Amino acid sequence: MKKPSSKSTNKTSGAAASSRGICYLVGAGPGDPGLLTLRGRECLERADVVIYDYLSNAEFLRFAPASAERIYAGKTAGQHALKQEETNALLVKFTREGKRVVRLKGGDPFLFGRGGEEAAELAAAGLRFEIVPGVTSAIGGLAYAGIPVTHRASNAVLTIFTGHEEPDKKTSGINYQAIASAPGTKVMLMGVERLSAITGELAQAGMLTATPVALVRWATTGRHQTLVGTLGTIAGLAEEKQFKAPAVAVFGDVVNLRETLNWFETRPLFGRRIAVTRTRQQAGGLLASLRELGADTYELPTIRIEPPADKTPFIEAMLDIRTYDWIVFTSPNGVEAFFTAFFAAHEDARDLGGARIAVIGNGTAKKVREYHYAVDLIPEEFVAESLLKSFKELNVEHLKMLLPRAAGAREMLAIELEKLGAIVDDVPAYQTVPETEDVSGGIRRFREEGADMITFTSASTADHFMALGLPWPEGLKTASIGPVTSAEMKKLGLGVDLEAPQHDIPGLVDAIRDFYSAH
Ligand code: SAH
Repeated sequence: MKKPSSKSTNKTSGAAASSRGICYLVGAGPGDPGLLTLRGRECLERADVVIYDYLSNAEFLRFAPASAERIYAGKTAGQHALKQEETNALLVKFTREGKRVVRLKGGDPFLFGRGGEEAAELAAAGLRFEIVPGVTSAIGGLAYAGIPVTHRASNAVLTIFTGHEEPDKKTSGINYQAIASAPGTKVMLMGVERLSAITGELAQAGMLTATPVALVRWATTGRHQTLVGTLGTIAGLAEEKQFKAPAVAVFGDVVNLRETLNWFETRPLFGRRIAVTRTRQQAGGLLASLRELGADTYELPTIRIEPPADKTPFIEAMLDIRTYDWIVFTSPNGVEAFFTAFFAAHEDARDLGGARIAVIGNGTAKKVREYHYAVDLIPEEFVAESLLKSFKELNVEHLKMLLPRAAGAREMLAIELEKLGAIVDDVPAYQTVPETEDVSGGIRRFREEGADMITFTSASTADHFMALGLPWPEGLKTASIGPVTSAEMKKLGLGVDLEAPQHDIPGLVDAIRDFYSAH
């Protein structure tokens, strides 16, 4: 999170700059990353500056180019938020400088989000802006609790109101009389802190105390929780359960439909907090699969992939690539590093020559296929020993092999292949370095709330996790992708609660699901 820089880096003249400058007011939806619109993502991918809020999922920042400036406008515990005027001023300043600015707002930007005010400021300054609507918590958030805001059998009217009032207002600006007497469903945003006062006002204004009410907090995210009661009981229940903001409240018979429509909270990993330690480039797949099963996942970036310190051996191997009989990949990162270097050195895919391709497991095979190359050899079990066994059967004597691997220790695989008579070029193709930037706020979450489980998908993720020096939350379980990773975890003094029988991401996901269905 960077502080807004005060000086402009744009040297273009004012008029030319502002004609390029544009501000997108983008709705980020209620939190589930899948609920960002395609247009919203497109805007993020082209952003020069992103100004984001407390509620919008910080994971979306991943879509913005690494070079984009990221500015946090919301408030966190102990940290002062930007005042609305300061936010408005920043939007105007950056847009005027000719930047593509994304103002990322929770839910829909035009529903109680002050998006209207921000757009009006841009309009008054004569600057270009675009509105990208989002899924609002008032409708989408409730849908995840199994509550449709309208239903033909029970209502034809929907009232959405805010429970928030300006702190300096002397008398209530909210017409509870009108809200209580309107037919149909009522949805309230903000105001859970004042629930007791608000439900009291509504009851006094004539709403039946038996009216079903649900509160949904952190709707659509991994922390999603629902509390059900009636107008008469909900404030007491919320107090008792410490049910805090951000939450949406819904009043009306539609709440009862949840009994049959509750699809989200019934998934196998719902409510399990799983910290995923992967490189920033790779976390997506594992996070998505765990989330699909309902887990509350967040990413703990521990390593980042960079080119090796000494690139020469790898570049030389690329120039001689036609002389190899086999290319052996032991990780998806190696595949990526290889093809990046290969296509930097060669324009024609056929320059790979006749080399056959071996991989250690499914994840690595998948990466190879992404580059439209076929995999010639994949062992039964996804470990080096099994791959070695396959090579033994093939007879690799005098065959030339390239092993693009991580910088650091030589791989046992290379040594063993040489014993089989192969000529092995074991070259560092990439290096992993500790990731210290907490882009998605995962490190903060881990410190503050801990997790139920943490996953390790390589020995180096375990090393780098230890290097972060984070506190170990009580009861934290560990999941390992396979024996090599487990060995390293044990060496570091971490227990291994679960090891995936199939050593790849889908295998790990299955093992976690089985672990929790057994516990
Ligand atoms: N523009 C937003 C609302 C902004 S006002 C939208 O369309 O959703 C902020 C309020 O929105 C919060 O106080 C809370 O009532 C509600 N809210 C936003 N996201 C939420 C979420 N994920 N879960 C529950 N309530 C949420």
